[in-house]
Amino acid sequence: MNAVVLLGPPGAGKGTVAEVLVDKGYRHVSTGDLLREQIRLQTKLGLEAKKLMDQGQFVPDEVVVGMIRSLMESSDMSAKFLFDGFPRTQIQAEKLDELLQSFSGKIDDVVLLECPDEVIVERLSGRRTCTKCGAVYHIKYNPAERRDGCDMDGCELMQRPDDNEATIKNRLHVYAEQTAPLISYYTEQGLIHPVDATMSIGEVRSAVLEKLG
Ligand code: ADP
Ligand code: AMP
Repeated sequence: MNAVVLLGPPGAGKGTVAEVLVDKGYRHVSTGDLLREQIRLQTKLGLEAKKLMDQGQFVPDEVVVGMIRSLMESSDMSAKFLFDGFPRTQIQAEKLDELLQSFSGKIDDVVLLECPDEVIVERLSGRRTCTKCGAVYHIKYNPAERRDGCDMDGCELMQRPDDNEATIKNRLHVYAEQTAPLISYYTEQGLIHPVDATMSIGEVRSAVLEKLG
């Protein structure tokens, strides 16, 4: 059970890159998507997570690690996981190493999507997501063909509640404090592949595919 980690600030394009890696056999696991599913189902976990997510704060490590543990326990040993938005703290990174080891697996590569704050603010402010399938668009860089409906299923597009300017600023601050230190954690292990995420969607996807060759 091996894994690739997509690391980078919110809005760097992790989910957008993941879309093409799924075609290469990776199992895309976004903790943000898993949490939004809990919100949609109105579970206790989802309702508590929503309060934190709406403010741009992290959900507690044990909650997120618990979700990943259950997922791994119910997965095929040959699964190749593509983690997006996980790990986000030092504790999560250490727990992920332990979990993978317990399944005789490890992290093969960590792709770091590098993107400056001003680009991120523009990307997140213009992000639109399908209310049904979660497909991700951008009003300028990746518009849906029908503008207000998803290309896949025609369902309505929405703006995420945490994609407003004040919450974006908070998320960037939390990223710098809690997630950016993971860059040295993985650099020391020789796993990091930096990619310039300011390039076009097609160029970033190709660069990532090349690194994972
Ligand atoms: P993340 O998963 O890292 O939060 P997303 O993949 O959701 O980021 O991308 C954030 C927004 O930026 C989306 O609206 C997406 O369409 C857009 N986007 C992603 N990659 C690029 C890119 N290379 N150039 C321009 N816009 C991009
Ligand atoms: P994302 O979809 O990756 O942008 O995540 C949206 C929000 O979900 C984040 O701002 C956090 O509140 C929460 N979240 C997602 N993944 C994690 C994680 N690994 N650890 C803590 N909180 C998370």
